[in-house]
Amino acid sequence: MSKIAFASAQEMLRQLKLTVGPYFQWALSARKKYIELRLRQDQEVRGIYIRATDKLAKEIRSLKRQGYGSQMNIRYLTALEQSLRDNGIADSLMKVMPVYLGRAIEAGSSYSYEVTLSQISRTKLAKEPVQKAFARANKQAVETCWARTHNGLHLSDRIWKHDQKYRMAMSEIIQDGVATGEDPVATARQLEQYVRRGKKTLAAEYPEMMERMGNRIPQDISYEALRLVRTETAAAFGEGTIAAASVSPSYTGMRWLLSKNSDPCHICKGLAEANHGLGKGVYPPSDEPPMPAHPNCMCTLVSVHEDTDAFIDRLNSWIKDPASQPDLENWYQNVYSKVA
Ligand SMILES: [Zn+2]
Repeated sequence: MSKIAFASAQEMLRQLKLTVGPYFQWALSARKKYIELRLRQDQEVRGIYIRATDKLAKEIRSLKRQGYGSQMNIRYLTALEQSLRDNGIADSLMKVMPVYLGRAIEAGSSYSYEVTLSQISRTKLAKEPVQKAFARANKQAVETCWARTHNGLHLSDRIWKHDQKYRMAMSEIIQDGVATGEDPVATARQLEQYVRRGKKTLAAEYPEMMERMGNRIPQDISYEALRLVRTETAAAFGEGTIAAASVSPSYTGMRWLLSKNSDPCHICKGLAEANHGLGKGVYPPSDEPPMPAHPNCMCTLVSVHEDTDAFIDRLNSWIKDPASQPDLENWYQNVYSKVA
């Protein structure tokens, strides 16, 4: 990590600590789960593309051994058609995506869940309905994530588009090999190199080929899918954070925390400095900003809760006289009792 990135991370943790006070460990643990997930998925998505491509390259070499010819030709193209169609990108992404969304939602919701549970455990109220309410909020967040659309497309449609994009890029390279009668081993190597190191390194070695292809293949094919996965994971973390906070009776607002304090982009800066009368960058319940603010944004949301001692006092007076605390009575009727 660079000096600036390290200082930024330190500043974010400092802000987090200021926001959550005694519950810092739980907030830190939520952040940690989220970061670990992001790092893991970066590697896994790259891996999906590399595996699919290595399989294709292996098939090309095997066709050569089977006598399809020492130069790429139309027979190779026909033989590879099925593999290009069943490249496995969409299948693999559809397999990992529910895991990522589930973990991100869980990480996001974990903070207000722990806070609320610890508060409830200081009263005579049973914990089980609270646990159920959070579980239900998580389930709803999962549904919301899959129902999200971008330019009218659902997540599953967008995953499918990346599958097609991949197939087209691979076809371009293979077809170029056929058009120029390239050695199949060289074509196989080009595929492997392209998926690992992008168009630029391929262009250095095969300048004419890249000139012929122009912009028909993206610079970095797996990065495009990775950006989608990162965005959806960030959205899921935000969705989980908001859904869970909404069932917490001590929830008072949602704070936008910058990932880069030294030099934030203007969108994130605006979000972190907005004033709704609840403190800098704190949004009222039901008016939370969605995550992420832009692709690759690492800013986060963290819920703000009523001071614990004051809240416990209110809970106790509500237990004695429900009418004395209308908001808690409302929570009891609409959240706590609804899940029993
Ligand atoms: Zn940001």
